[in-house]
Amino acid sequence: MSLLAHRASQLGTETAFTVLQRAGELTAEGRDIINLGIGQPDFPTPPHIVEAGIKALRDGHHGYTPSGGILPLKEAVAVSIHHHTKAKIPTHRIQILPGGKVVIFFAAMLCGEDGGEIIYPDPGFPIYKSAVNFSGATPAPYPLREANDFAFSADDVLSRITPKTRLIIVNSPANPTGGVTPRVEFEKLVAGLRGHPNIMVMSDEIYDRLTFDGQETTSLLEFEEIHDRLIILNGWSKTYAMTGWRLGYAVWPEHMVEAADRLAVNIHSCVNAAAQQAAMAALNGPQDCVADMRLAFQRRAALLEAGLNALPGFTCRKPAGAFYAFPNITGTGMTSHDLQTALLEDAGVALISGTSFGDEGEGYLRFSCANSDEAIEQALSRISTWLGDNVK
Ligand code: PLP
Repeated sequence: MSLLAHRASQLGTETAFTVLQRAGELTAEGRDIINLGIGQPDFPTPPHIVEAGIKALRDGHHGYTPSGGILPLKEAVAVSIHHHTKAKIPTHRIQILPGGKVVIFFAAMLCGEDGGEIIYPDPGFPIYKSAVNFSGATPAPYPLREANDFAFSADDVLSRITPKTRLIIVNSPANPTGGVTPRVEFEKLVAGLRGHPNIMVMSDEIYDRLTFDGQETTSLLEFEEIHDRLIILNGWSKTYAMTGWRLGYAVWPEHMVEAADRLAVNIHSCVNAAAQQAAMAALNGPQDCVADMRLAFQRRAALLEAGLNALPGFTCRKPAGAFYAFPNITGTGMTSHDLQTALLEDAGVALISGTSFGDEGEGYLRFSCANSDEAIEQALSRISTWLGDNVK
């Protein structure tokens, strides 16, 4: 008999961390590894934000804060939400959390249970499926199709609804595909949900500031008619290069606020006090750092798209947002996992197999733009040489 509860075996993981670890081991052995597997901005947190964090520590922000976050930070989030979506969200529905990721787990725990079903994207962020399984609910994946530029199709989502459906998860701009779903699909989704008033929706908008070439993002907050069953996941990790600060926020519908607060009190009490001050500086300070990072990702995404399309056996759609390219590698005749392993071990380039993001990811690799132009060019050249030597 296992010493662990059954539910412990239900947890999945993020292969990105495993690849990162192997890349680290190879580097420690003296190998020169280029890391395009990484899912975090390669930029440091902008200095004015770092200074605000340091000042907060010096000023004595050392204690617990209210579990859902300090009021001025929640006010800053509300202002930012209004600026970007026109939605007016009262601060008590905003919860500051230690990372956007936490919202996924909270949503799954609060909506999912044995006998229920949760609908989520495949390929998608692997924590969706993991959290759904842990909650006891049955995972119900919907495909993101290359032919659709990896936007979700509202019809695909809606067709997976059954009487057991509790929650639908959407993500745009998306990890791992770089796909951005056009507004018309969001409109269709909202219209289709009119017939299903008891189904909750979680919109993962963590990459909402990162789109390329003027591509517009749509927030489900723009659709007031579903505010009473909408959960928003967002945060600072990607927009302000703050992954290690562990900061994120949720917007909860009124009826979930108390339960979400209880979960926070039970699990982490509150978010690091100084980090919350830094988060305030990020939202209230100059935003040109966001634009600069976005432009760098856009330039690198274009570099990757061109370079990947020139590789034998690869084809790559234009990434529209987030900071990933998701080329189709079926022309190489290799599986995604075998190609990921060979390129890391033999060519010294760390990438993530599409299957790390679900079964629909077979035939694809995820390339991150979170490395320098030079590193991207060198990685492409190494892959080209390796393919030339090994794939006929
Ligand atoms: N949602 C998606 C789609 C992500 O890619 C990530 C991070 O990679 C997160 C959520 C979690 O972000 P955080 O680092 O703020 O927990």
